[in-house]
Amino acid sequence: MASPSFIKSLEDLSEPAGDNPGFQFQKKCGCCVKATLSSEFFPFTQGVKGLFSKVFSKDAEPNPNQQNPAWIQKHQEISEAFADAIEDRYTYCPKCEKYVCEKCWNNVRDMCLNCCAGYARSAYDDPYFGTKKKNKSAPNAEPALRERSSALNAARR
Ligand SMILES: [Zn+2]
Ligand SMILES: [Zn+2]
Repeated sequence: MASPSFIKSLEDLSEPAGDNPGFQFQKKCGCCVKATLSSEFFPFTQGVKGLFSKVFSKDAEPNPNQQNPAWIQKHQEISEAFADAIEDRYTYCPKCEKYVCEKCWNNVRDMCLNCCAGYARSAYDDPYFGTKKKNKSAPNAEPALRERSSALNAARR
């Protein structure tokens, strides 16, 4: 089951109005924007097809589909299913609070490439790699750091 925050981060391309209403979602990488996954378009068949778009002009009342319980339920189901299918291809970066693709994730530093770039520019020039080397001879060093990353790993699943 995908996490609610991941589901929320999906972009909603659903089309509630018009002759061909339906659901579609996509997810962009928060880092490179190139890695975009889109769901297929699921037509919404329980609505009154075409009728509303003919009866109401564009700036008339909000489209009835968005208040239709069947629409609301399907909308949720499809967003959840899509989130489930793709969630493990994205990693949550706790620094910038975005979901990034595999290519934009730096496992060693536990942050996305955007944040790595910012990190490298900061005054602390890579203290993390320094502690990594020390950890080999002193495995109990930095327990807080390891706890944090295992919590992250658990959160990713
Ligand atoms: Zn990316
Ligand atoms: Zn980041």
